[in-house]
Amino acid sequence: MPLIDLRGVSRVYGATEAPVHALVDVYLRVDPGEFLAIIGPSGGGKTTLLSIIGALDTPTSGEYLLDGVAVPREEGRELAALRAGTFGYIFQSFHLLDQRPASDSVELGMLYQGVGAKERAARAAEATEHIGMRDRLGTRAALLSGGQRQRLAIARAIASRAPVLLADEPTGNLDSATGARVMAELTRLHRQGVTVIVVTHDAEVAAAASRVVRITDGRLTEERRQAIEPSTRTGPTAQAASAPARRRRVRFGDLLADALASLRSRTRQSLALAGTVALAVALLVTTLGLDASTRAQVTSTFDAHASREVSVQWEPEDAASGAPAPVEAVTAASTLAGVESAAVVSGYLESAISNGSTARTGQVHEAAGDLASALRAELRWARDDGAGLPRAGEALVGASLADQLELGPLIARPQIAIAGTPFTVVGIIDTSNRAPLLAGGVVLGDGQAPAELTAQNRTLFIRTGAGAALQVGRQLPVALDPYSPDAYVVQAPTDPTTLRAEVQSGVRVALLAFTGLAAMIAVLTLINAIGSAITARRAELGLRRALGARRADLIGLVVAESAILGAAGGVLGLAAGFAGILGFTVANRWLPVFDVALAPLAIVAGVAIGALASIVGAVRASRVHPAEALRQ
Ligand code: ADP
Ligand code: MG
Repeated sequence: MPLIDLRGVSRVYGATEAPVHALVDVYLRVDPGEFLAIIGPSGGGKTTLLSIIGALDTPTSGEYLLDGVAVPREEGRELAALRAGTFGYIFQSFHLLDQRPASDSVELGMLYQGVGAKERAARAAEATEHIGMRDRLGTRAALLSGGQRQRLAIARAIASRAPVLLADEPTGNLDSATGARVMAELTRLHRQGVTVIVVTHDAEVAAAASRVVRITDGRLTEERRQAIEPSTRTGPTAQAASAPARRRRVRFGDLLADALASLRSRTRQSLALAGTVALAVALLVTTLGLDASTRAQVTSTFDAHASREVSVQWEPEDAASGAPAPVEAVTAASTLAGVESAAVVSGYLESAISNGSTARTGQVHEAAGDLASALRAELRWARDDGAGLPRAGEALVGASLADQLELGPLIARPQIAIAGTPFTVVGIIDTSNRAPLLAGGVVLGDGQAPAELTAQNRTLFIRTGAGAALQVGRQLPVALDPYSPDAYVVQAPTDPTTLRAEVQSGVRVALLAFTGLAAMIAVLTLINAIGSAITARRAELGLRRALGARRADLIGLVVAESAILGAAGGVLGLAAGFAGILGFTVANRWLPVFDVALAPLAIVAGVAIGALASIVGAVRASRVHPAEALRQ
């Protein structure tokens, strides 16, 4: 059975208006172990024929059986496996990884065969030994001469240990000595049982072949069949050629190493891309970091001023209820941790208040506890014995009521009558921050209100130490009345965190939106840059495909490259972001707060931006057509 069997194969390039018939109804059979030369004029269709034989391209019509099995027409696992395992290619224009060490080019095919790193290196060394290139494995491929590059391309094919070797004008660019050496190598491989198909202009090369076909204007003619010593061994033959697609996989470590080497071969471009990611990550870190610093700042400011006040209101006790008397409430409150001062103000209905000649209405209060401190009130006393509360028969009068009643100087001990009961005014309430209504009323000592008045409500005002208000507010109802704590309405300050959220949310949303925008711009820039990189790398990607890379392998490569760039950008951005936070907080004389969680977040964000941006490019890379890409 022939190894290669082309039956009426045609290949038409281009649009239907101007088709190029590169192959016309070609019948060709090649037996295992043959050494076939394809000759013909330039543009005759030699490269096209070789591409179809090597499963890099598919016929427009006709059939291709490899070892009796139809070669699939669709890209996929089987084609990739054929390229990786069955065919070894020597391309007309070498196709090396120019900016990477020569060894990378030799090992690339083995990478997609799933060969481990150690064996790859060993086989690369062995293959280059044969063609005198072993000492050049460490050299950057771009620095090698044309002849050396050609030999390297041959070494790659040898190292792949493919049973079928396809060479497109392997001596075309070489001086005669190097050409002879290359031919000797092809002959040696043929003797070992490898099926060799070589395209050539060179009569000497054709002379080495066991059989010659000519292709002109896409039509194939048999030129000569010669009984040169045929391959004695069947070698790695038909069996291997059509072996079912072995499950092979590029190892993850190899993928990463390949991606890293690929990035390093394009240093400047890689740095620019990492810089783009860094910018977005730096903005993210700065935004979130400043958020933490601001929170700390707002909380401490807030604690210093407002979060020290709490009050409780309840209905005055009736006979049945367990509500505490004002003095008891003050005592109960004072036992709680964090309480600095407490006072109860009981409110009565408005009642007539007169100075003997003028009568006004004003609200009557009774107070217990430390009135001045707990209410943050300013009191002006007629006496200076420091008493905090009016005693029996005494009253404090709110500043505005005092004006209306034209009380005159305190020193004169003005008298007033509340609901007919006389009181001596012993002080004026100038301001009362927490109970402004006191300015229009009077405050008496506890239990001093005239009997006909009834208490309407009681309010316990408390001042606490910094930050204790919330906690005290939670404990108060139970402390006052364990049996019916629900009857007590606590007014505690807003949670500083909530307040911060309220104060900051506007700014924060704007900053986050800004960061999101920056991330989006970074992603778009990256998509663009990766896109042009993919265009520039078409030949390299085509080479990888030709050597057996699956679509998923190329997607993996491009995504891995981008993710690595993203991680690097994340680290750079993290450093820049911290510097930004430091600069901003120091400039504002704040204490900088660095959230440790930002470090992994920054790197994850970088990787995510990189990977996300690479998807479009990765899919494009995976669609590169090997034969087309390699023609360039
Ligand atoms: P050879 O290798 O013998 O020089 P090729 O196989 O490269 O010939 O090309 C055969 C013909 O097909 C030529 O006329 C060439 O211009 C044409 N051709 C090759 N590739 C393409 C392509 N991708 N699109 C259009 N025409 C092509
Ligand atoms: Mg050609």
